[in-house]
Amino acid sequence: MTASLIDGKAFAAQVRGKVAAHVARLKDEHGITPGLAVVLVGEDPASEVYVAAKHKQTVETGMASFEHKLPANVSEADLFALIDQLNADPTVHGILCQFPVPDHLDERAVVARIDPAKDVDGLSVMNAGLLASGEKGLVSCTPLGCLMLLRDELGEMSGKEAVVIGRSNLFGKPMGQLLLRENCTVTIAHSRTKDLAEVCRRADILVAAVGRAEMVKAEWVKPGATVIDVGITRIPHPEKPGKTKLLGDCDFDSCATVARAITPVPGGVGPMTIACLLANTVTACCRAHNLAEPDGLTV
Ligand code: NAP
Repeated sequence: MTASLIDGKAFAAQVRGKVAAHVARLKDEHGITPGLAVVLVGEDPASEVYVAAKHKQTVETGMASFEHKLPANVSEADLFALIDQLNADPTVHGILCQFPVPDHLDERAVVARIDPAKDVDGLSVMNAGLLASGEKGLVSCTPLGCLMLLRDELGEMSGKEAVVIGRSNLFGKPMGQLLLRENCTVTIAHSRTKDLAEVCRRADILVAAVGRAEMVKAEWVKPGATVIDVGITRIPHPEKPGKTKLLGDCDFDSCATVARAITPVPGGVGPMTIACLLANTVTACCRAHNLAEPDGLTV
């Protein structure tokens, strides 16, 4: 079997198109422009690249983008004062603080300071609890993106065996909750899981989010499974000196001989994350104004 490719790059472009269409409607019909505020603390080069990409895509979809760059030695009090100001600002519908932050700041406390209704990263305890309770909240962007890809690929998922490798608050746990909502039978595996290969072989849907390059081999994949590769490991490029290459958690070439469909790395899950951040911002804006939410951009 040769797996079909799940093209996250193309799907993310569709999501951005839907976001832009809804933003245009909000502007035309209600005079409302959704706004996303991004807070960057310090000068981490990778974070600067992510923040620039978020700004560009926010503006391209017609939304307002508010960037706040703070020095690496900013005090917790000053950072919280900014977050409080953004929480109170009616033109800001989504707030995210780019992580990692310098060591003297506590990421959990930063997330907790953000109004859950504007927590478009979906990382707050409130939003995690709403997801676990099956209630409406804001869902962490990468798992939301994976769910969109799976819905598009599989349609109905009820009764399927789903295995998620990784149990982080950022990805594994919300992914497991989303699949449970789809009526899958969900296993969340982690570093202490025994016979991981055997557990994975049960999966009709296998989602790998570990950060160990090419850990999942063809023998771990049930024939005909759908494989979503979330992991990203950057290695020196074998052919281009000075360049780097991204590897996923799945050994793509071998897994693709067994799976029914698989996401590549890069070009699979990665592009969905920012697209879902934009989707969450529009959703948050609609909820703030008691307006209908866009179809297919939330759960
Ligand atoms: P994380 O917080 O480090 O969690 C990794 C998880 O993998 C943990 O639950 C850990 O188990 C588990 N694990 C580690 N070694 C394992 C092993 N040998 N067998 C089974 N499980 C193992 O990472 P994360 O934030 O969830 O991210 C995971 C990967 O996804 C990373 O490569 C990250 O870069 C990528 N990612 C990509 C995107 C994107 O936009 N594409 C977004 C988010 C994350 P324990 O809990 O037992 O330690």
